[in-house]
Amino acid sequence: MVGRRSYDCPMRWVARRVRITRVWFVSHLQRKMPDMQRIPTENTATGTVLEAPRLLETLSPSRASDFKACPQLYKFRSIDRIEEPPNEYQARGTTAHLALQRIFDLPAVERTPERLFDLFREAWMDVRPVEYADLFAGVEEERRWGIESLEILANYFGVEDPSTIEPVERELDMLEELGGMTIRGILDRMDETDEGLVITDYKTGKAPPERYAIPAFFALKIYALLIRRRTGRTPAKLRLLYLNGPVVYELAVSEAQLDAMERQLAALWSVIDLAIRNDRFPTRPSRLCDWCAYRQLCPAWVQPVQEVAALPMP
Ligand code: SF4
Repeated sequence: MVGRRSYDCPMRWVARRVRITRVWFVSHLQRKMPDMQRIPTENTATGTVLEAPRLLETLSPSRASDFKACPQLYKFRSIDRIEEPPNEYQARGTTAHLALQRIFDLPAVERTPERLFDLFREAWMDVRPVEYADLFAGVEEERRWGIESLEILANYFGVEDPSTIEPVERELDMLEELGGMTIRGILDRMDETDEGLVITDYKTGKAPPERYAIPAFFALKIYALLIRRRTGRTPAKLRLLYLNGPVVYELAVSEAQLDAMERQLAALWSVIDLAIRNDRFPTRPSRLCDWCAYRQLCPAWVQPVQEVAALPMP
């Protein structure tokens, strides 16, 4: 039967109803949230309506992406600051970023695959004791991860030749005031090219299919805004360089696009500020939940079971 499922167990049916109600409520709330503005407070002595002070102080492109993907995920990471257990994907990303940053410290002729692999090994020795000491159960597991990481890293040379590139910025720590917002983030790389400034973001995960690539540029557009703010120049192009493929997605940038992005960011800032004020962070279940580190804590996954457990048996 199309569009229907039969549930022979009443508990499973109730669980599904609870889940549907929750998802509806969340999506309804999320549709309403962008319409809400800062909560006005009234000075009862003068009758003057005052703007409530902002609670959100700084926002990074990655945390803004978190909130867009799932407000509850943002809360776990940015408000509750619950540490995520390290995993091998994060370890690969951190180590590869360091190696790709350091390769441009070398003279152009030395920027070879072998040197990049050496830099990866050195970077791993730097980060392993600090962040990933207990990540692997044994040497063999770590070795398998290392070989797989080097295979992915080797793809870099299929995309570009680092001996022909002299970045103008690498791992650039940015903190900018933008229309009343304070935005902070670390930009992977920026090059001066014939087309103008090009911002590149390295990714060690798999690329999304092309039809879903545009949303993946969200964070890079924020970086482009920060660069425009800092230098007065609008970057010409954004690049997402997925080593695991490899796949490169590029997006030309215009002033109008960045103006629209600034408005979108301001609206998002207001919504996050309101969420903090009201302590309302709806869950947004999606495929992201499959690898979300907080799933065991998430109301979207934990609470329905508790609610169902509290219901009397028919
Ligand atoms: S498990 Fe899913 S719904 Fe819950 S916080 Fe993570 S991404 Fe959001």
